Amino acid sequence: MRRSNKIKVIVTFFLTILSFCAYSQSNVFKVTLDAGHGDHDFGAVYSGRIEKNIALAIVLKVGKILELNPNVNVIYTRKTDVFIDLVERANIANRANSNIFVSIHCNANKNTAADGTETYVMGLSKTASNLEAARKENSVITLEKDYKRKYEGFDPNSPESLIGITLMQEEYLDNSISLASKIEDNFEKLGKKLRQGGVKQAPFMVLHKAYMPRVLVETGFVSNPTEGNILNSEEGQDDIAKAIAEAILSYKREYFGSGNPEAVEAKPVKDTAKPKAVVSSAPAKSAPKGTFFKVQLIASIKKTTLEPKNFKGLKNVTMLYENNIYKYFYEETADYDAAKKYLQEAKSKGYGAAFLTATKDGEKIDIKDAIK
Ligand SMILES: [Zn+2]
Repeated sequence: MRRSNKIKVIVTFFLTILSFCAYSQSNVFKVTLDAGHGDHDFGAVYSGRIEKNIALAIVLKVGKILELNPNVNVIYTRKTDVFIDLVERANIANRANSNIFVSIHCNANKNTAADGTETYVMGLSKTASNLEAARKENSVITLEKDYKRKYEGFDPNSPESLIGITLMQEEYLDNSISLASKIEDNFEKLGKKLRQGGVKQAPFMVLHKAYMPRVLVETGFVSNPTEGNILNSEEGQDDIAKAIAEAILSYKREYFGSGNPEAVEAKPVKDTAKPKAVVSSAPAKSAPKGTFFKVQLIASIKKTTLEPKNFKGLKNVTMLYENNIYKYFYEETADYDAAKKYLQEAKSKGYGAAFLTATKDGEKIDIKDAIK
């Protein structure tokens, strides 16, 4: 071989390796798993059932399943019994540029009959029990040094004080709800072991600080003797971990593309591919054919009548009820330029977090595909 040819071969070889590395990098789905509490922060403790230990055991089991997949990169906020600031947990996920953030906890209540799993997405809540869960989980910041300065005057006893800021981050809501629904659906498949509490919305500080689709799973009540013993058992933790891991893999398949064929993949979970039943306040009619744009103003657990006075004077607001969340949309048009004007109008009226959504023949599609 001539010398110049030899160099060509070597250069081509390295370029191939480089492009392969770049390809695999972009093809890797990053999951940050957050085991709640740690060290002197025990979380909820009932009859020797300790939240920090249960959360860590479940997280390590979830991670072990996920790590069997070559295209999944698992990042842990903690793998041992250590204390980590709430904001640092979210920042670990932010720095890793994680695709999703999953925080694992256990619930507790003075009423030891209380039971059931709950998977939370970030957002508004007027429900006392949801706010109580958020208050309990947010209160751990008082164990951190200098928390008043760090959390900018946030009052952990009043989760509602996060709400104003929360509205800025609605863009992660759809994906967060999808992931939360998959987790709750998989819990349901565990049979009668755990009651499925469903997808809920509340202002959690740890979710607020993570800039990606994010959920917080309350895997059950340690305060309930029956459920608490399941949570504290190896078998119970295995079941819960499997349900969460499979939900994450199902989410990856749906939103991250299949990419390379995966060597190891959890069994496809039935009936989770499409969002759950959709109820619109508009009179029933068949979905119009074609691509349409709408401005999503806000998503909330609260049902509001569709009058302009409730939407800062905006007319033509429609509502969609999906996975326990009401979504409110402004206008609908097939014209992308017109849609952008509607978005500007919504923002100028004070809906700073409004964003465009798109449908094709009534099915939700990615906005990027719609613009094409
Ligand atoms: Zn907790």
